[in-house]
Amino acid sequence: MTPPPPNSPPQSTAPTLTAQKILCGQKALVTGANSGIGRAVAVALGQAGADVIVNYVENPESANAVVDEIRQAGVNAAALKADVSCEQQVTTLFETAIQKMGTIDILINNAGLQRDAAFRNMTLAQWNTVLGVNLTGQFLCARAAVQEFLRRGVVPSVSCAAGKIICMSSVHQEIPWGGHANYATSKGGIKLLMESLAQEVASNRIRVNAIAPGAIRTPINTVAWQTKEAYDQLMTLVPYGRIGEPEDIARAAVWLASDYSDYVVGTTLFVDGGMTLYPGFATGG
Ligand code: NAD
Repeated sequence: MTPPPPNSPPQSTAPTLTAQKILCGQKALVTGANSGIGRAVAVALGQAGADVIVNYVENPESANAVVDEIRQAGVNAAALKADVSCEQQVTTLFETAIQKMGTIDILINNAGLQRDAAFRNMTLAQWNTVLGVNLTGQFLCARAAVQEFLRRGVVPSVSCAAGKIICMSSVHQEIPWGGHANYATSKGGIKLLMESLAQEVASNRIRVNAIAPGAIRTPINTVAWQTKEAYDQLMTLVPYGRIGEPEDIARAAVWLASDYSDYVVGTTLFVDGGMTLYPGFATGG
């Protein structure tokens, strides 16, 4: 299969729930929302009727472009800068977001990065940067969101739940990944952070879940899809036979954030084209 050119339209033609405005009246905060998956999720939440805070840490122009795109859906949106690994910046992010929007109903814990290295050469800085953003960042944002959800409680006219948190994990919460020990560790950590938190706050009607994307076409993994050779190699790992698009994740996020998934608590939804099905065993093994 020929790799899709970097700027080609999404390959997925699946329908969306956004036309039904199923998040009308809700306020969402998406971290790392000016690129890739976060961007698509933020836009889809807006199209589903939510007002959206677009968190970013660099490149304000792209954050403002996402805000403009969300506003085209007729909802409110604002860009707020914060490094999710910094406690003080997360505190300020949530204070400002709540000032602007009145409250937060949905947190998409999406910000993440990679600092790849062979294990023997991995520096402490590479380790700490990935754990700091991917895992501690999710802890800090989830804690701030839970505090707001508990303060406000359920508003039945808005949602059955007092709040929803969706943690962006990865198939690498399950699949070990040589050369990326820091990243796989962070995603394995997210799994039990999400499940422990979900268990702890479910009685408060707070729903915490995760999405585990497979290979999604974003800037984080350009080397995996940019050339035909790389794309063909990637496809040996994807039974469904195509790379994922950010919109594939966005559709799942809209559903998980909505009352359509009201009884879904502490679950990881794999959106991976079958990557976790041990594709090497499809013809024997
Ligand atoms: P991306 O690089 O396009 O987006 C990552 C976003 O996180 C960017 O906006 C970046 O600026 C932001 N970010 C990084 N450090 C930050 C910080 N300290 N504070 C705030 N924001 C910060 O990559 P993506 O593929 O869209 O990744 C989004 C999430 O999805 C990540 O958690 C990633 O691990 C996860 N994921 C991606 C894939 C994939 O194939 N693309 C697969 C599995 C999981």
